[in-house]
Amino acid sequence: MSDIPLLSSVQRFLDSNPGSFVDGRSVSEPGAERFELFNPSNASVLTLVSHASEALVERAVQAASGAFHGSWGSTTPYLRGVALNRLADLIEANAEELAQLESLSSGKSIHLTRQLEVPQSVVFLRYFAGWATKIHGQTMTPSLPSFQGEQYAAFTLREAVGVVAGITPWNFSLMIGLWKIASALTCGCTIVLKPSEFTPLSLLRIAELAIEAGIPAGALNIVNGSGRIGQQLIGHKDIAKVSFTGSVPTGVAVGKAALSANLTRVTLELGGKNPAAFLADVDVDAAVEGILQTAYVHQGQVCAAPERLYIHRSKVEAICAKLAERLGAMKVGGALDEAAQFGPLANKAHHDKILGFFAQANARGQVICGGKPLPGPGYFVQPTLLRALDEHDPFLQEETFGPIVTVLPFDNEDELVRMMNDSPFGLGASVWTNDLAKAMRLIPRIEAGTVWVNMHTFLDPAVPFGGVKGSGIGREFGSAFIDDYTELKSVMMRF
Ligand code: NAP
Repeated sequence: MSDIPLLSSVQRFLDSNPGSFVDGRSVSEPGAERFELFNPSNASVLTLVSHASEALVERAVQAASGAFHGSWGSTTPYLRGVALNRLADLIEANAEELAQLESLSSGKSIHLTRQLEVPQSVVFLRYFAGWATKIHGQTMTPSLPSFQGEQYAAFTLREAVGVVAGITPWNFSLMIGLWKIASALTCGCTIVLKPSEFTPLSLLRIAELAIEAGIPAGALNIVNGSGRIGQQLIGHKDIAKVSFTGSVPTGVAVGKAALSANLTRVTLELGGKNPAAFLADVDVDAAVEGILQTAYVHQGQVCAAPERLYIHRSKVEAICAKLAERLGAMKVGGALDEAAQFGPLANKAHHDKILGFFAQANARGQVICGGKPLPGPGYFVQPTLLRALDEHDPFLQEETFGPIVTVLPFDNEDELVRMMNDSPFGLGASVWTNDLAKAMRLIPRIEAGTVWVNMHTFLDPAVPFGGVKGSGIGREFGSAFIDDYTELKSVMMRF
């Protein structure tokens, strides 16, 4: 089948050679460095994007600081929630345009942006908006001595930290960007956000919609360009918090830079090498369906997706055979092809990295199915299943962030837990079984920020999300984000 036609508004957006969004308006600086934005589905140039200059990034921070101390800072919690809900309405009204913009530059299937990323962003935004009126401190009674009848009272205030620097990756650019925007704005902070240079489009459109929703100029700024912009933001004296989502090596550098800049608070949502355990009682068809739905969605470029499968020895052959058959039958196509079940990798650098993994797997005879590139011109590869050579196999250690899943059998639960926890990462893990008592006993033994049972990767705004060990610091969603975007002030009174 062929690609869906682009909306005229999307074409206009591409033709405008977008840049950044600062202090309430789109900015394309004359003479700015421009970078080519590629379409991963066919390797053609989508548009030229202006790289924000140092001076523009400075203007963005000043605009955010002005809005924090002025328009947004003085907006009541109720009206903050109203404005965020209005933005959610506008995202719904412009859903197809946002879905096309996001799919075009990320290579993500149009099904996924239409049915998951855009509508779920709305769900998350409305959830955050509800918290705006529920951020509060506590009262306490001090036990200080009273000599002449004096009494004491104490309470805490939750105060917005200030200007937030958001730095986001390319895999779910719109949704992850909105998590940071919504967290900051809900708490009364303002934000300067740097998207990945591979996916700079959809958040620019969100920033325009934010103005239409009544969010004042300067409260939300988008600055596009390379990691250098991230570094400038992190080192800036007026940045009160850095909220980063991306890879472990960049995250470690970001964390160090933030601490040495100004002891700037930082949350890090990083990579994983997430295990999924299939116990002996598991139904083969349900297991295969679950793996297809979670490990290969968006070509495996999902931080919490399972990359390590530990399958009870009695079920390994049946699950692998069925999975290989299903993977081999997947229809491959571009992001805007509604008939495609499996699309391109997001960019050429990532494509090259995955081909490097394929070369290693083929050389070591580990391929059960896949393991080859597919004809271009886009960045296509086969969905791939590997067998681990032993429990120390490098394919059980290093995140591929692609459609490469590695299988190892296990015989008993102690061995299973040891192998699941043998990782520097701890983002997510899952247990698949009909025996909930077994699952309940395993959950406390698994080192991960989230443990799913008979599901994997699903996120909900009410459920905190984040990593342990090398997968990060801090939590998004639930009420947990409030701690990260507000400062606790203690007040003590004698009367
Ligand atoms: P990345 O290379 O770490 O980049 C993430 C962001 O950091 C990009 O905007 C990047 O800009 C910027 N950046 C690069 N160098 C920087 C520096 N020195 N200082 C400040 N910012 C810098 O990650 P990615 O390849 O985009 O994304 C894939 C990774 O993200 C995977 O490891 C995945 O697991 C992880 N991830 C984690 C979560 C989670 O919630 N835990 C969610 C999604 C993805 P440029 O793109 O312009 O270089």
